[in-house]
Amino acid sequence: SGDRDPEIPTSNVRVVCRIRPMNEREKKAGATPAATASTERKEVAVVRIFAGGTRQVRSTFHFDDVLTSFSSQEDVFRSTLQPLVGQVLAGYETTAFAYGQTGTGKTYTMEGQLDSSEGRGLVPRTAAAVLEALAGAEFTESTVTVSYLEIYNEELSDLLSTAERHPKLDLKDVGGGRGVLCQGLSEVEVHSMQDILEVVRRAQEKRRVAETRVNARSSRSHSIFTMKVRCRRAVAGGELENLGKLHLVDLAGSECAKKGYLYPDAQAQDPSFARVMAGEEERERRNINQSLLSLGRVITALREGSGRVPYRDSKLTRLLQDALGGRCKTVIIATISPALAAVEETISALQYAEQAA
Ligand code: ADP
Ligand code: MG
Repeated sequence: SGDRDPEIPTSNVRVVCRIRPMNEREKKAGATPAATASTERKEVAVVRIFAGGTRQVRSTFHFDDVLTSFSSQEDVFRSTLQPLVGQVLAGYETTAFAYGQTGTGKTYTMEGQLDSSEGRGLVPRTAAAVLEALAGAEFTESTVTVSYLEIYNEELSDLLSTAERHPKLDLKDVGGGRGVLCQGLSEVEVHSMQDILEVVRRAQEKRRVAETRVNARSSRSHSIFTMKVRCRRAVAGGELENLGKLHLVDLAGSECAKKGYLYPDAQAQDPSFARVMAGEEERERRNINQSLLSLGRVITALREGSGRVPYRDSKLTRLLQDALGGRCKTVIIATISPALAAVEETISALQYAEQAA
């Protein structure tokens, strides 16, 4: 029905799709886009061509919202997390995931370009909105801390650690309905946009260094930015404290979960190295596949409200156990490329996202 107020989310899971603009290389190649988006119809259409161009198959996918190549970072924020800032202050957990193939704009959507205010993505925008909302409300006290961690090959590492060689982090069940704790994870207090940008830059630098040791590591890891918002206000006969949390997750490239995905560079340079890497890569691929599958299954189980919710099947879902379900809000942003070359992966990302809706 068209008369619903878009500002009031009606379901606990919102799924949106964002298509990135064609890049210079794609434009030069002169290709017509294979995937097109319509914001009006909230629909993405993908055309596949078979049998040397003689047969075309058009598939359409529907979402809660569709963001086109003309959508700004602010448009994405308005459609996804802006309506949920109040939830976080009210003491609930909110999570947004960017899901899609490498190169489709997951990191651009989440972090974006830090040095321009238009280019900033959901992490700085949402964090700033939370700080702003806190300043504008009548709280007797408030504290905001952030942490940033990475899951690579089912191992957790702290992207804000100042230690030269940081120890691996472990997850621990706290018990008593208080969820899962990540032991030893750095938490940094933030007060301003400057603080937030500094934290994101620190995490980027850590990832950049890790990337020089393991090729394309960032495509093959999940990174999770978490903001904890503690605020107190006076109520009749005392004070009330809320602890809300916001998790922004940049998932591993969806293609990394596929069989046959190889390190093309390593293979070309040294075949014997490639064989060793192939074993390691297969383990990585299974881990990525497992975590993306269990995320999908958790969301399906929650939506259908039936059966066992398989939180324990991956570190990702275990870590976010308390943030998925109940009154928590979840946003999935499927990022896709318009290019014909990416069409098979685009279809599979759209199918994954549509299943969650
Ligand atoms: P991913 O994290 O999914 O691998 P990136 O976020 O790194 O993809 O995006 C790949 C490239 O495309 C980057 O150079 C990024 O700046 C650019 N890009 C992605 N989405 C957009 C967009 N909506 N508008 C402009 N440039 C974009
Ligand atoms: Mg990325």
